Amino acid sequence: MISDKQTHTGEIIKRLKKEYPNAHCELNHTNAFELLVATILSAQCTDERVNIVTVNLFRKYRQPQDYLNVAPEELETDIHSTGFYRNKAKSIQGASQKIIENFGGEIPQTMDELLTLNGVARKTANVVLGNAFGIASGVVVDTHVSRLSQRLNLTENTAPEKIEKDLAELVPVKDWIMFPHWLIAHGRKICQARKPKCEICVLENLCPSSYLKNIT
Ligand code: SF4
Repeated sequence: MISDKQTHTGEIIKRLKKEYPNAHCELNHTNAFELLVATILSAQCTDERVNIVTVNLFRKYRQPQDYLNVAPEELETDIHSTGFYRNKAKSIQGASQKIIENFGGEIPQTMDELLTLNGVARKTANVVLGNAFGIASGVVVDTHVSRLSQRLNLTENTAPEKIEKDLAELVPVKDWIMFPHWLIAHGRKICQARKPKCEICVLENLCPSSYLKNIT
């Protein structure tokens, strides 16, 4: 049986789909390995900055082995401007090593296997599975998805894993991959963290957090 909340979510999906027909993964990549690296770099960093850095990075490093052929310091310099570069370099080199040793140089295509790679948690694994392989393994929860899901009353949780669970119950599986892209597009353009533009939001009459509701 379809719940009221699922119907509410269905209407949100319908409107966002219409509003953002070209929503897509904003991290530039040409294969699953590049997407994995870009997603690791995107932690605490904007997609725009990651895309600037990966132009040269992906020219220099094409295979997992390429990342192992340099000293950590060299990779750290190459990714410096994305922040947290020491940890990120460690994750990329550790993941590259495991991809070679445990998966014959290929990116694994299951959640459990991806989670064995350094620097890969559910969000990164969902990004790679959904956007590189078209596998709907879960719902990507980033800062925009988290904020909008709470504002739209799709979840009362704040922990990403719990939000993902709530969304997975409300969003049809066929929309699991695109739903975060629609929310992210809406979060960037309209439902911004500090100043949501409720007055021009297509979800306004569905949203309990609209500031228009508090105006008498
Ligand atoms: S009505 Fe306001 S708070 Fe609600 S989704 Fe739209 S912009 Fe965000």
